[in-house]
Amino acid sequence: MADRTFCAELTGSFSTSAAQNPTVAIMEAAFADAALDFRYINCEVPPESLADAVRGAIAMGWRGFNCSIPHKVAVIEHLDALAQSAEIIGAVNTVVIDRPEGGPRLTGENTDGQGFVASLLPVRDPAGQHVVILGAGGAARAIAVETALAGALSITIVNRTPERGQTVADLIDAQTPAAGRYLPWTPHLHVPHGTGVLINATSIGFHPNEAETPDVDFESIDPGTVVADVVVNPPETNFLKAAAARGCTTLDGLGMLVNQALINARLWTGRDLSSAVMRRELEEIFGL
Ligand code: NDP
Repeated sequence: MADRTFCAELTGSFSTSAAQNPTVAIMEAAFADAALDFRYINCEVPPESLADAVRGAIAMGWRGFNCSIPHKVAVIEHLDALAQSAEIIGAVNTVVIDRPEGGPRLTGENTDGQGFVASLLPVRDPAGQHVVILGAGGAARAIAVETALAGALSITIVNRTPERGQTVADLIDAQTPAAGRYLPWTPHLHVPHGTGVLINATSIGFHPNEAETPDVDFESIDPGTVVADVVVNPPETNFLKAAAARGCTTLDGLGMLVNQALINARLWTGRDLSSAVMRRELEEIFGL
């Protein structure tokens, strides 16, 4: 009893709607597995309450928090500093609250793309690769920046809306060492020869639309290409099934989610938590 305390370290997430976000389950399972007295609290925070939520986290001594839709850009005005990739991406999904003398200091990180690169590394180092990304939203932008910073030679953005695609390609070209290109999404897209990594970073195939598949000519994909999907529900998308049938190595969205959570946990606790515990928790949630 002498060593026991009754005041856990707090972390969590601010978003709306928060109810379908499984991150709380994997964080709490991994904290418990590591015998860390940390909690992760999933909070429903509408846009007009974001400033109060951030002030509350500071006041209550939180170690940090995740920001999801719709706060990833809006939170920036409440922070003191941005890490390099968050600055280039222009969005923050993780905030670290340090407490040096002189008052709390909030740093914004973007670990979406870092989580993707961490899940990719065991099967393909992005350094020196030609990467093709379907989509130009938040997930695509984070993956594009992080694979470029990890040494990819070129990032080709394929997107339904040309302006958004061109914007991300221009960002890569201007702010990273990789060449950024935009490729219009023509019907039955022909994947360029020499593509080392192909990623679906759109929401096509997400439950309840799991029957939908990105319009790609799978015959044009080299079997040596690593094919990844960011969609987490269901983890085994039609896109990945078709790529596997072509002989490609595939990566599901759960790997990106787990690796992002591991990075966040390291930022908040200084500890490496168990990816196996997180993955098992997710597989249970998705009934795999
Ligand atoms: P955004 O809304 O920012 O972007 C959506 C993207 O998908 C846009 O490029 C959009 O194209 C494209 N898109 C959507 N529907 C279609 C369609 N029918 N045909 C062609 N293109 C389409 O979303 P996010 O980037 O935030 O999220 C994308 C996906 O990534 C979601 O499924 C999300 O759950 C997942 N995600 C997974 C993570 C993980 O850890 N695994 C982390 C973060 C996100 P357009 O510009 O033309 O509208």
